[in-house]
Amino acid sequence: MPEFQVEMHWRCSTCRVDNLGRYKVCQNCGKPKGDEAYYRSGTATPTLADAVTDPALLKQATAGEDWACSYCGSQQRRDSGECAECGAEQGQAERPAPLEPPVIPPNGRQPLSKGKRIGIGCGALFLLMFLGCCWAFRTRQVEAQVVERSWNHTVSVERYKIVDEEGFSKPSDALNPSAQGQRVHHVDKVQDGTRRESYSESVACGETCSKSPVRCTSNKNGFESCSSGDERCSTKYCSETRYRDVAVYKDVPRYAEWYAWRAWRWAHQRDITDQGASEPPTWASDERVALEKACGAGEKERATRVPSYRIVFEENNKKKAHHEWKPPTQLEFDELPLGSRRTIEVNGLDDKMRILTKP
Ligand SMILES: [Zn+2]
Ligand SMILES: [Zn+2]
Repeated sequence: MPEFQVEMHWRCSTCRVDNLGRYKVCQNCGKPKGDEAYYRSGTATPTLADAVTDPALLKQATAGEDWACSYCGSQQRRDSGECAECGAEQGQAERPAPLEPPVIPPNGRQPLSKGKRIGIGCGALFLLMFLGCCWAFRTRQVEAQVVERSWNHTVSVERYKIVDEEGFSKPSDALNPSAQGQRVHHVDKVQDGTRRESYSESVACGETCSKSPVRCTSNKNGFESCSSGDERCSTKYCSETRYRDVAVYKDVPRYAEWYAWRAWRWAHQRDITDQGASEPPTWASDERVALEKACGAGEKERATRVPSYRIVFEENNKKKAHHEWKPPTQLEFDELPLGSRRTIEVNGLDDKMRILTKP
């Protein structure tokens, strides 16, 4: 950590001219240096290139602080012995020199962190949006009336009959199965040699070094003492290309015999539908369903009733929003003729509704 001396400046308070730190008398107007502060010319941190090399100046720089004459107020070099202005002897005339303002580094003060302020702003915005969503999707209770209704009664008829089927494996009840030839059953991944690929690896390769910043303190005599920074080193890493072999796979199709056959199965045959709005729901008559009327030898039929109901509520307010509801039973459908009023609860998120009260 080598030390070096750098000359400072002071500005004459009478004629405003800049003087080198070595002079204790203004080189322009002859006024002796008083309380004027020494300062660094320029804002850059001194480097070794700014170091004082002249032996006489070096001696002056390291002689110690200036002293102030209590008789005439001028400032004098530590090694002067007596006041150059009034001749007073140093030992009797010296009074403590006034405090100098500290040398201000170029990047002294840091403004308040901008990132922190943005973070707080974003947080507040997200909270506001979250609350807005909660309000928009809240569950509401509203008065509503039935403005639309419809019902659908379907009789679904299945028939037990002979159907065509095909596949890789035939069931035990398959009738006259026949082989249809080989088809791709599935595809296997099989290793097919290797492939050389490159990859990069991080390897130590020397050091990277940097110097800590130069620090200076005023000698309070027109010079400042600076120390060049310590060198700090860390291991440097380089990327190296390496090679390795990796397995390569190929698709190999596997074949199996494909069959076609016939079999007795229950299969959907027909639907007989009644539908309406306000009239009481009905089911298709036995004549219309005509179960097993057109069956062949060995065939049979069965019927399943599939009901579905739909009610549309309209809110009794300015929005007049509509909400659809599917009553699960005919009983609940019958209890809601056109114009029926109910208190309903609407979920804002999926628009699902449920009935809360009867009138
Ligand atoms: Zn001057
Ligand atoms: Zn004096």
